[in-house]
Amino acid sequence: MPTVEEVLEFVEELAPPDLAEDWDNPGVQVAPPDGLSREVDRVVVGLDVAHVVDEAREAELAITHHPMFLKPPRRITGRTYTVLRRVLEADATFYAAHTNWDRAEGGVADSLARRLNLRVVDTACDELGRVCEVRGPSDELLNALRNFSPLTTVYGDWEDVRTVLVVPGSAPSEVVDEADDVDAVISGEVKYHTRAELLELGVTVVELGHEYSEIPGMQELARRVRSEFEVEVEFVPPPDLTVIR
Ligand SMILES: [Zn+2]
Repeated sequence: MPTVEEVLEFVEELAPPDLAEDWDNPGVQVAPPDGLSREVDRVVVGLDVAHVVDEAREAELAITHHPMFLKPPRRITGRTYTVLRRVLEADATFYAAHTNWDRAEGGVADSLARRLNLRVVDTACDELGRVCEVRGPSDELLNALRNFSPLTTVYGDWEDVRTVLVVPGSAPSEVVDEADDVDAVISGEVKYHTRAELLELGVTVVELGHEYSEIPGMQELARRVRSEFEVEVEFVPPPDLTVIR
């Protein structure tokens, strides 16, 4: 059986930490003193620490997309206290693969493009995004987007969309720099001003919901760990979102 450290060495081959943004905090977030040397039976994978913390009680390692700490906490109160207490009670190693896994080959951006049946032709936005060609009729892609997430919202028109920019999570403002080369931007969420600028430039904007856009990448990470090691790897989806229409 591999140790936690051996599983994490494999994860860091897939998602090298030096690919992360400067402000990011990938890597081990919380670990018991002997956490890294423990043998792994079970790994849980998800988007947020709060989503996986209950299942982590039965695991030695929890891998999330979002780091538990982006900024060092100045006080442990409120929700930070509640989540941290559950994390410590779980007695497992908590690890994050964030913007490094977004960028990495086969990571969050590539996985979303593949899930939407798009052909990746280039990287964009400092490798956080992928420029893709639509394979079939653009209406098929529109259906795929709607089936993929109940939160899918399309701004602008959907006529003859052939080239799209895929950026999971929150779209950086640099997506506007790609406006000449793409017909649509597909992201988890796009800030109002960025969206307005894209629409003025004739670029359609699709929001899938932040968490939905990142699910394929974390499922892919779970799949890779599962096929490398003989351990149980469970992907824990975000809690159900109630969408009022
Ligand atoms: Zn995110």
